[in-house]
Amino acid sequence: MTAIPPGSTIGILGSGQLGRMLGVAAAQLGYRCHIYAPETGPACDVAAAFTQGNYDDPAQLAAFANAVDVITYEFENVDPQCIAHLAPIAPVRPGSLALDISRARPTEKHFVRSHGGTTAPFREAASLAELEAAVAEIGVPSILKTSMFGYDGKGQARLTSPGDAASAWETVAGQPSVLEGFVTFAHEFSIMLVRGLDGSTVPYPAPLNVHRDGILATSTVPAPAPVQAQVETAVTLAARLAHALDYVGVLTCEFFATEEGPVFNEMAPRVHNSGHWTIEGAVTSQFENHIRAICGLPLGSTALTGASVEMDNLIGEEADAWPALLAEGDAHLHLYGKHEARPGRKMGHVTRVRR
Ligand code: ATP
Ligand code: MG
Repeated sequence: MTAIPPGSTIGILGSGQLGRMLGVAAAQLGYRCHIYAPETGPACDVAAAFTQGNYDDPAQLAAFANAVDVITYEFENVDPQCIAHLAPIAPVRPGSLALDISRARPTEKHFVRSHGGTTAPFREAASLAELEAAVAEIGVPSILKTSMFGYDGKGQARLTSPGDAASAWETVAGQPSVLEGFVTFAHEFSIMLVRGLDGSTVPYPAPLNVHRDGILATSTVPAPAPVQAQVETAVTLAARLAHALDYVGVLTCEFFATEEGPVFNEMAPRVHNSGHWTIEGAVTSQFENHIRAICGLPLGSTALTGASVEMDNLIGEEADAWPALLAEGDAHLHLYGKHEARPGRKMGHVTRVRR
């Protein structure tokens, strides 16, 4: 196992806020970051280099791979062809297997079930007729989600009666989708764990996550007792998935805490919004541990730095409250430098650590 030493260059696919926070963590450890994305974004402000290129441009991708020592990504919809152009030139971590599994919801759910995890009941639908058949089997209430490219609840439609099938099909614009049975849950939580190049894994304390309008609003650590009771089962599953994927880096799995135990919702082969609290709330942030892992360095402690931590997302105009947040004195404000505060857009977050 050869470490990629500080001073080396880390390539990041994607120019969003996750890339930005990875870039800051990498810089702190003495690395340089090179961003590759079709458009400039929050990550470019903190990176040493930026290549504006499409993910299907073999020449640009090859030049990028030749300019870096290791490559990671901040989103899961990376095309397999893109990785195929990069991987012969520079190591791509967490790796293409994790992308192959997590790119499409049905594949991911089958994979998780094959490793002993519980998911919501689901059926795939590629046409309105298939959706109607799926509704007959799964029933209502249920949720139709596009199989690919969903985030922040986008590309989702809730069905409360079988008659909703046609309008739901319109919402997903006829894209291949999955119909999921509605899970009755008391809480939502996530497991973030980091797996090193040597196969060692370290979990973070699990945050309780509250969503508003399908978007993460807050993450709180430690999670309440009913969630804690399900964390061990969830961590065991997440670690099993990470090993099966020969995963390197931070892996996130979202769960519903139900009366029957944890139900797996979805995974992200990357750092995650529900882990932003770790920047000040954990000894080693998810971003630093991801960098450590992909560079083959020892992993850092994931222990809490205080008694409790709360992270609040700043969505759209909520970020305009920055003067008041700064005036608190001990709130940690993060702004992503996005120029336009569109509704539903993640503009920043604020973390409060209670000692
Ligand atoms: P992101 O990637 O931002 O987490 P996403 O668009 O992939 O979002 P999901 O995580 O699938 O969306 O769903 C968003 C939220 O909708 C969940 O966190 C949960 O609150 C609710 N939800 C999703 N699926 C179900 C389900 N089967 N039963 C009950 N609630 C659900
Ligand atoms: Mg989700």
